[in-house]
Amino acid sequence: MSLPPPPASPLVDEPLPQPQRFGPAELARLTAMVQQPSLFYWKGPQTTALVDEFRRHYPLKHCLPCSSGTAALHVAVSALRLRPGDEVIVPPISDMGSYIGILYQQGVPVFADVDPRTYTLDPADVRRRITAKTRAIMAVHLAGNPCDLAALTALAREHHLALIEDCAQSWGARWQGQPVGTLGDFGCFSLNDFKHIGCGDGGIVGSNSERYGPGLNNWADKDYGRTEGGRDPETLAPNYRISEPQAAVAAAQMTKLPDIIARRNRAGELLTSLLAGTPGVQVPLVRAGDTHSYWFYMLRLELSRFSQPRAELAAALTAEGVACSVLLLRKAAYRWAVFQNHDIFGGTWPARDAGFTTMDYRQVTCPTTEAILDDCLKLPINEAMTEAYIGKVARAIRTVLARHAK
Ligand SMILES: *Cc1c(COP(=O)(O)O)cnc(C)c1O
Repeated sequence: MSLPPPPASPLVDEPLPQPQRFGPAELARLTAMVQQPSLFYWKGPQTTALVDEFRRHYPLKHCLPCSSGTAALHVAVSALRLRPGDEVIVPPISDMGSYIGILYQQGVPVFADVDPRTYTLDPADVRRRITAKTRAIMAVHLAGNPCDLAALTALAREHHLALIEDCAQSWGARWQGQPVGTLGDFGCFSLNDFKHIGCGDGGIVGSNSERYGPGLNNWADKDYGRTEGGRDPETLAPNYRISEPQAAVAAAQMTKLPDIIARRNRAGELLTSLLAGTPGVQVPLVRAGDTHSYWFYMLRLELSRFSQPRAELAAALTAEGVACSVLLLRKAAYRWAVFQNHDIFGGTWPARDAGFTTMDYRQVTCPTTEAILDDCLKLPINEAMTEAYIGKVARAIRTVLARHAK
């Protein structure tokens, strides 16, 4: 069916506010940096400053800045020293970066379903997926909403599993008052250009574990053992080093974190309060005592209550100036071609071909994940949004949905 022409004056009559992300703080660090004799990360002043700033928010004993969030997660997985076929339980709504390290280490990502209201790992389904080969759970705090860490840490303890927190989307989020990334064995963060704070590309992995923490550096630096001063790699590890230019920008960004998180949290909570009770809308659930840091905002639509399919509703919202998308999270990860075709290395998956696993991703289904991806609506949140702007967005959503109610 054809859409009505866009309204002359949309309900959201101003463009999406854009924050000024970089400025004098970044410039000051970069200026200091170019006076340095070296831009190498090891003992570099900018990298040291980045770790110090990071620790103000995340009191982790062992911290390693590296080249990306994917690298941070790969370092964590490497530290587990998986054997081929060992399993890591993961959610199916995440970035490819959550899965890459597992596959490179010849491990097997095992998908567990998510909770229908928080969109994060459902501990009951995680429990069902645990086998004798399970080594770890990867808790992705999707969009900035803390996972059910009480249940996941208890499960990990009971089954002697490591808990890796993927905090790429959850800078500043808190589980029962404690920063996410400090509760598991590893906290892994991304500093890519799209995250709450960024330096183009970068990442950090931190750990309080005496078992895994001391070796983190080796897993991102060719197993060169810089602390021992030797060059005698004992095992295979890539080069995932950060460098001083990235660290300079990231160290400056880190000082802005509390303000960015406070603003995003207020924006997200305001949107929830303004949308609560809207017929056909299910706002995201944040558990009492938790702090969501809103990398984005995701709600669900009860599509049976509307006369139009989701794509038409999204188009009608866009016509009223609501920045929303239904496209970014189109498929559960196990439906991506890389998993469906088991094309891990040159069209083959050695771990499976050699009999270390019988995983067949074409057989995997996570019904709640698929339901969410079929009816969700993703809205941007950022620290530049004013209360007035969010008020307009909420009013436009309520108005458009009422127009299309059955
Ligand atoms: C962004 C992201 C990653 C990967 O981070 P990069 O820095 O892009 O490598 C991993 N997991 C999640 C959940 C992410 O959002």
